Amino acid sequence: MQPNIWFNICALFVLIALIGLHYIKFNAPFKKYYIFLVMAWLSLVSTVASLCNNILPGHAPLWVLRLSNVTYFVSHGLLLPALLLYVHSLTDHNLADWKRLIPWLIPSTFSMLLILTSWYSDSLFWLDEGGSYHRGSMMWLLYLVTVFNYIGILVRLVRSWHLIPRQEATSIVVFLAISLGAVLIQLFFPWLLVENFASALCIMMFQLTVQNPELILDGSTGMLNKQGFSNLLLPMFDQRQSFQVGFLMVDNYHELEKVYGYSRLESRINVLANFLKQHPGIVFARLDSRLFCFLPENKQSTQAWTNLLQNLDEETLISHLHKRRIGVRMQLKTGTVNCPQDVESFNALMNLFDMAARVPMAKGQDAFRLSSVDVMKLRRRKLIEEQVRSAVKDNSLSMVYQPIYDIKARRFCSAEALMRMYTEKTGAVSPGEFISIAEDNGAILKLTRFAVESVCGFLNRTDPNRLGLDWVNINLSAVDCDQGDLSARLLEIIHSNGVEPGMISAEVTESAFTSMPDSVLSNLTDLSQAGVTIMLDDYGTGYSNLNRVCSMPLDVVKLDKSLVDNVCTSEPARIVMENTISMMKRLNKKVLVEGVETKEQADYLIGQGVDYIQGYYYARPMDEAHLEELFRSQLTPVG
Ligand code: C2E
Ligand code: CA
Ligand code: CA
Repeated sequence: MQPNIWFNICALFVLIALIGLHYIKFNAPFKKYYIFLVMAWLSLVSTVASLCNNILPGHAPLWVLRLSNVTYFVSHGLLLPALLLYVHSLTDHNLADWKRLIPWLIPSTFSMLLILTSWYSDSLFWLDEGGSYHRGSMMWLLYLVTVFNYIGILVRLVRSWHLIPRQEATSIVVFLAISLGAVLIQLFFPWLLVENFASALCIMMFQLTVQNPELILDGSTGMLNKQGFSNLLLPMFDQRQSFQVGFLMVDNYHELEKVYGYSRLESRINVLANFLKQHPGIVFARLDSRLFCFLPENKQSTQAWTNLLQNLDEETLISHLHKRRIGVRMQLKTGTVNCPQDVESFNALMNLFDMAARVPMAKGQDAFRLSSVDVMKLRRRKLIEEQVRSAVKDNSLSMVYQPIYDIKARRFCSAEALMRMYTEKTGAVSPGEFISIAEDNGAILKLTRFAVESVCGFLNRTDPNRLGLDWVNINLSAVDCDQGDLSARLLEIIHSNGVEPGMISAEVTESAFTSMPDSVLSNLTDLSQAGVTIMLDDYGTGYSNLNRVCSMPLDVVKLDKSLVDNVCTSEPARIVMENTISMMKRLNKKVLVEGVETKEQADYLIGQGVDYIQGYYYARPMDEAHLEELFRSQLTPVG
């Protein structure tokens, strides 16, 4: 049967086009791109050699035919070891650890020796007088090595499966399947020369999928994008390598975009990107429109790294941008993160950047470097974020109660329930820290449920009426108030615990009224109608809107500590306090002042006719047992 050379001719055109395309396209700083190019060249050489093997017999001297056959075997035989190296390079981008592959490469080295010696021996193939090719007795060895190489590639692939992007892994599996199919076809039907065509198809598939630089490069700056950067970092995190990642964030990107428009801003961003790219030996990435990241290319880049960090010093950076007349006032944050000490995974790194973006910059400040202290703070925030999510389940929450003093009755009449969190990883965390985090990640809803259930449980365990505990305050966050079913959920807990709604008071801050005033109003109205007292917390800290205060079903207004702090020393503070109290009285609201720490403050406020006082002067927050003891002690008449 005449060999069919048309497959090879097609492969030839495909490969020339692909290699050309590869040179035209910009390549990313990954070794896999070079290995891929080598694979394409090997395939091309093997295709040309195969064509020569089949066209030249009868037209060329024997040594030329021998040469082209040996070339075919060499180039074809190197293709699978190259693929093995390629798979390895997906997780070891710099091939720093290529020596691990040596055992897998030994059989291929042996087969290369066999191929080269077959020039003289006829073990692998022999040519008859007409120059026609015949398989030699040792040919089975080549097939054995091929099988071995397939196994090697599969093992390497399976081991790093979780680190390789799905698309890439799938392409490699398809590559193996197609080329194995072609080997089998050619084994049983030697005249069908499909092996090179199959390789060309696989290489084309790679080129169109995983070798596509657009997938991993940022279109505007040509730096790696988030996908590319994660390809680079995932294996480094996985192998617990120790490395530093630097970042530069254009903090006000979105504001600038509104002012200058996308393209004008992007051209300025490119000035910044080019400034960064002036530093050789560093890999740069642009993870999103405003975030640049970088890391040393290899161990030899230490000097380059130091230079870069020096140049990112606030003054140098700002003066560089000014010199380039960048024209827009960028606010830049820079910093370095030590991996894995500061963050242990790519996701944690991304979270850290998210949090770094939220660190406020001072007005008029152009640049600042996030210090290691900041990074520590961000890490703590992250840790608390995780802990707070599972706090209820992990039993890390508890409630304490700060007594509230009734001026007219001259006794403690109620208490505010305050939450405490303690976990082994964080120690005691103040609610000032964890409540806002829980509000950000939505865990607050579970926390509020815990608070309400705990308070109801406490009221059930004691006999509040006999103790003279008239009610207990619970803090509701703005996030709670936005939930359309807040009142229904709270009342359900209160009723199911057999607690009188009148025993509960809900504290809400003004921030609750800003986002969805309608749903907040209907929630509070429902609660109020059910008998729950509504208190406005922290009055005097926000942008107090009196209109709103009047329109909400509020029974008590809690004046914030900041209004009290200076009443004994500052006349303006007294004017504000006195007018606020008299205004609230005229609006028919009861007044509770919190944060009272001294006798002078208390005496002054009593003189002003406030209804309740809460503060360290009277009592600090305490646990249930101490609260009961305190209330019990006031049952015994003094003297
Ligand atoms: P807040 O609602 O204004 O609670 C009063 C805070 O002031 C409490 O701090 C209390 O211990 C403190 N305090 C009371 N008297 C004095 C005083 O005389 N001097 C000083 N310096 N401080 C005083 P805490 O317990 O650390 O709570 C801080 C904030 O965390 C609370 O402020 C509240 O906004 C929030 N929080 C606490 N527990 C909960 C809760 O269960 N749910 C929600 N949503 N927020 C809570
Ligand atoms: Ca409160
Ligand atoms: Ca308060």
